[in-house]
Amino acid sequence: MSVPEKLGVNKYELDEGHPHIEVNNTVCQQVCGDKMCLFICPAEVYSEQHGVIVADWAGCLECGTCKAACPAEALSWEYPRGGFGVIYRYG
Ligand code: SF4
Ligand code: SF4
Repeated sequence: MSVPEKLGVNKYELDEGHPHIEVNNTVCQQVCGDKMCLFICPAEVYSEQHGVIVADWAGCLECGTCKAACPAEALSWEYPRGGFGVIYRYG
């Protein structure tokens, strides 16, 4: 089974209008060279668009890797509100 196929097994309850990840791009641009968030997220939530880091938080697996890896604490990250976020259908 490929990674996209595995991710497709999950279900997501989207909390519209309440992003649980926010990126402070001022910090990113001032201090970050490696931009680890673009490489370490298993769900490829992060992308760079016209020099700005964007988090497509709706597909987040809630593993916390990006928050731990960000060297500058540029991420505001918290679990989605109760009842929202990823649902692992097979545990
Ligand atoms: S790793 Fe952190 S500081 Fe670096 S680009 Fe990503 S969010 Fe910004
Ligand atoms: S918590 Fe995990 S899945 Fe969610 S954005 Fe961060 S690295 Fe990606």
